[in-house]
Amino acid sequence: MRVNAYAAPSAGEPLAPTTIERREVGANDVLIAIEFAGICHSDIHTVNGDWGPQPFPVVPGHEIVGRVTEVGSAVTNHQVGDRVGVGCFVNSCRECDNCRNGDEQHCSTPGGGVGTYAAKDRDGSFTQGGYSTHVVVDAHFALKVPEGMDAAAATPLLCAGITTYAPLKKWGAGPGKKVAIVGLGGLGHMGVQIAHAMGAEVTVLSQSLKKQEDGLRLGADHYYATSDPATFEQLASSFDLIVNTVSAKIDLDAYLGLLAVDGTMVNVGAPAEPLSVNVFSLITNRRNFAGSMIGGIALTQEMLDFCAEHNIGSEIEVISADQINDAYARVLASDVRYRFVIDTATLA
Ligand code: NAP
Ligand code: ZN
Repeated sequence: MRVNAYAAPSAGEPLAPTTIERREVGANDVLIAIEFAGICHSDIHTVNGDWGPQPFPVVPGHEIVGRVTEVGSAVTNHQVGDRVGVGCFVNSCRECDNCRNGDEQHCSTPGGGVGTYAAKDRDGSFTQGGYSTHVVVDAHFALKVPEGMDAAAATPLLCAGITTYAPLKKWGAGPGKKVAIVGLGGLGHMGVQIAHAMGAEVTVLSQSLKKQEDGLRLGADHYYATSDPATFEQLASSFDLIVNTVSAKIDLDAYLGLLAVDGTMVNVGAPAEPLSVNVFSLITNRRNFAGSMIGGIALTQEMLDFCAEHNIGSEIEVISADQINDAYARVLASDVRYRFVIDTATLA
């Protein structure tokens, strides 16, 4: 079926309305009428060419929530009318060790893992993302959005939520742990809420104090400006876990210096430029530096259920499709509070 969408025609060019083809619903597929699509900074990195050449035109969007309108004959986990979400990937081999361990995002079969957009699908075509009215996906990769959750506010959980939930859980955010979230944007504002709900003592490290009131309301216990050099002296060797969500290059050594003995800094931000480390920043206090990429399907469902239970949602600004380019400019200017979500009805 031919559906309306918004696409980037080439690297750095503004997104514009277009139409794209969605495949027929196969036996294992669901057809989703998309209600909302979030704007992740990764969408912007991708279409701006920060991460290398892309198969343009690219329809971004890997935070998708909508209703199932058709199910394939072999689908057992979703029914017509269910509210579902789709995150950053729409296929994996499901047979390699990583897939079996619930790490489908690290599928090790060449061509096995398929991203939600700008990725080569099994049939050789390129996937197109959520800035569109409909999507067809294998039912395994559609998550259940708990009824009672606000659909628009739940949309950013599909990437920003799982990307912060995964490292917070893996590295033990909880009672008695001091956790810092660097950057209060889309990922950061989810990280603050989730770490707080897990019981950790949460500190926001933001460029300025402009968003301090919001950070404290979202559940942070402390809020510091990284533009103030005193912050790095005051907080030296104090955190068990730091999650860096910053989309740009930062001075890693300065932040590593904030880790206590055996502390870990997990990088989820994905800037185009390499980051450098002075090994003494790691040797001192036996520190760890790690990365983390979104999360598997089972963990994503766990995160959605956790957020429903703790009444956690994203703080959003709902926009129409013709505001996408303005929203991109505002995200790049760190002027997002705290996620733009496209009302896909405006694509009709
Ligand atoms: P975002 O909404 O733009 O938030 C990033 C925040 O970083 C900004 O709000 C700002 O916070 C801070 N920041 C921006 N530029 C900075 C600079 N030059 N120096 C210091 N701080 C700066 O972006 P997002 O959607 O949360 O995504 C953040 C990053 O994570 C992106 O690189 C994205 O591609 C990546 N990402 C990774 C994964 C993964 O699986 N690892 C998944 C999704 C996204 P303050 O104003 O508070 O300083
Ligand atoms: Zn994302």
